[in-house]
Amino acid sequence: MDKQLTGKTYDIQGFSVQDGPGIRTTVFLKGCPLRCPWCHSPESQGFATELNWMSVRCLGADACGKCLAVCPHGAVTRGPERENPAGGTITYPDIDKTKCDECGACADACKANALYMCGEDQTADAVMRRILRDQPFFEESGGGVTISGGECLCQPEFTLELLMRCKERGIHTAVDTTGFVPWEIIEKVLPYTDVFLYDLKCMDSALHKQVIGVPNELILENARRIAGSGGRLWLRIPVIPMFNDSKAHFDEYAAFIAGIKDAVDIVQLLPYHKMGVSKHDRLLKNEKIFVAEPPTDELMQSLKEQLEEYGLKVRVH
Ligand code: SF4
Ligand code: SF4
Repeated sequence: MDKQLTGKTYDIQGFSVQDGPGIRTTVFLKGCPLRCPWCHSPESQGFATELNWMSVRCLGADACGKCLAVCPHGAVTRGPERENPAGGTITYPDIDKTKCDECGACADACKANALYMCGEDQTADAVMRRILRDQPFFEESGGGVTISGGECLCQPEFTLELLMRCKERGIHTAVDTTGFVPWEIIEKVLPYTDVFLYDLKCMDSALHKQVIGVPNELILENARRIAGSGGRLWLRIPVIPMFNDSKAHFDEYAAFIAGIKDAVDIVQLLPYHKMGVSKHDRLLKNEKIFVAEPPTDELMQSLKEQLEEYGLKVRVH
């Protein structure tokens, strides 16, 4: 047990019911090798601690402006006057990320927490203390701990340490993963992982690479190897308009899942939503953002029924 081992987290959420069975505490680790344009937690993608800004909390340069004075690199200036959602106009600070070195001085000065640093180095001891506060709820609900991200297996030693410590205390464990990591890492965590929440984003490897930045062969192969090694899987398919939401694509999903069916407890269909859009803005990167209409309930139901025809247990959400 390494008491000094640290990992970079960006959130720890108690009372989660979306991240595996029962009531869970989910530890979100920072950094991911994939770039899903619809990502609902884009703040998780970068591996470093980074500055975020939430306009709804900002009091404006005239009423506050504390951040303007503190930046050692002149990255914070007055932006243009804009319409204030609360009425009238407001001048927000403008932050030039090309000049910013993420020192955090402006976030320290911002008492409204409009500016904040996302990403915290925490010891395994500290994370476990937080987890153990929730242990009574795990026992009552059949829940436990989920290590998520980002891609938590990009911090393999820290993830393994947390999983081992949870298992020592009899806590159910889940690993929420993209599967895009070397098999040797999965092999190490497998004995301490009760279930893998495993994303299958697209069956077409060329399209997977074009849209997400990496191909899917490693992901599919790791799913097969987990199944072949006695691991349990909750497969998660994000249903994304114009990407993977066709009947033909779901036939490909069904054909793949049929080969590992005995290891699959459930297939979760997760409809695209627009929650990530406002979070992208918080990162101050001016990146192009994917926006589409969420799939209809009728489409979700028909895709669910399509997979159920193959004898799979399927749920939406
Ligand atoms: S975090 Fe960036 S913008 Fe803020 S004070 Fe430091 S260098 Fe300037
Ligand atoms: S210190 Fe915070 S609240 Fe004040 S202007 Fe800057 S970002 Fe807005």
